[in-house]
Amino acid sequence: MPKRFIAIGECMVEFSPTPSGTYAVGFAGDTFNTAWYTRQLAEPATLEVSYLSAVGDDGLSGQLTDFIEAAGIRTLMARVPGAAPGMYMIFLSEGERSFQYWRSQSAARHLADDLSALETAGEGDLLYFSGITIAILAEDARNRLLAALQAAAGRGAEIVFDPNLRPRLWPSIDEMCHWTMKAASTAGIVLPSFEDEASYFSDVDEEATAARYLANGARLVVVKNGAGPVLVRGADGDSFQYQPEPVAAVVDTTAAGDSFNAAFLVEYMIRAKIREAVRAGCALAAHVIGSRGALVPVTGIDLIACRNRLSA
Ligand code: ADP
Repeated sequence: MPKRFIAIGECMVEFSPTPSGTYAVGFAGDTFNTAWYTRQLAEPATLEVSYLSAVGDDGLSGQLTDFIEAAGIRTLMARVPGAAPGMYMIFLSEGERSFQYWRSQSAARHLADDLSALETAGEGDLLYFSGITIAILAEDARNRLLAALQAAAGRGAEIVFDPNLRPRLWPSIDEMCHWTMKAASTAGIVLPSFEDEASYFSDVDEEATAARYLANGARLVVVKNGAGPVLVRGADGDSFQYQPEPVAAVVDTTAAGDSFNAAFLVEYMIRAKIREAVRAGCALAAHVIGSRGALVPVTGIDLIACRNRLSA
C-alpha cells in the first residue's frame, strides 16, 4: 500500500510573460508546488499524492483540475458554483519580477466550507498545509480545518505546517502571528523560513524560531534560511545544522522553500532519516532556483535515482 500524502491549499492560474510578448498560462501555488515536487520525486507505488482545494465551474477551473490530475496528483476538490480560480500575472521590468494577484474572491477560499473530502481522505498518512492555506479562509472555515487536522493527528496522521508568512493576506500582523501559532500547534513538523519569522516574530536567530515552535507543541522544527545553514531541532533530540551547497547562479528563488519541503518530506516519509531528508531538500531547492519558474521538472527520475542524484 502506498503511503498517502495530502496537500491542502490554493493553486492559482499563473500568467507569465514570454519572450515574444505574449503570456503563457501555468498553474502554481505554495502547497500545490510542494505536492507537484512530491509527485515528481516519489513513485506512485510508494506514495499517493493528493491535492485538497476548491474550484469553480468555469473553464479555467476545469483546466486547473486537468493540469493537477495530468501531473499524477489526485484531486479532492470542492466545487463552488459561480466561482473561479485565483490568478496572478508576472511582470518583468529590467530583469526584476513583480506580481499582481486576483485572488480575493477565489474558489479556494471555500476549501474548508465542507471538509467531507478531508474526512474521506482522513486516512492520509501525512497532511501538509501552510500559512497561506489558513490566510485565505474565513474564520469559521479556518477553525473547521484546524479541528479536522487535529482529529487526523489524533488518528495518527503526521501534520506538517510551513508558516509561509504573507502579511498582505491578513488584516494585521498580530492576527497573522496569532493564527500562525494556532495552526502550528496542530502540527508535529513545522518548516519555517527564518527571514520571514525574524521579520514578524522578532526572532533574534534561528534557535529562537525553533524554540518558539517546539514550545508550541511541534516535535520537529526545520528552519530554512536561504543560502545559510538549515537548523534542525527536535523534541526527540534530532538536533543539527546543515550547510546547503553554494549555488553559483541563482536564477529565480520562486518555490525554493516549497521544493525543499517536498524533497524533505519524501525522504522523511520513506526512509525516516532526517539528515538525508534535509540534504535532499537542499539539493532539490538548489536545482529549482537554478531555473526560472515555480515548477522546474525533475524529469524521468525515480526516487532512488533522484536520491542518488540529489546526494551526489
Ligand atoms: P523560502 O522560499 O521559503 O523563502 P528559503 O529562502 O529559506 O525559502 O530557502 C529554502 C531553501 O532553498 C534553503 O534551505 C536552501 O536549501 C535553498 N536556497 C535558497 N536560496 C539559496 C541560495 N541563495 N543558495 C543556496 N541555496 C538556497
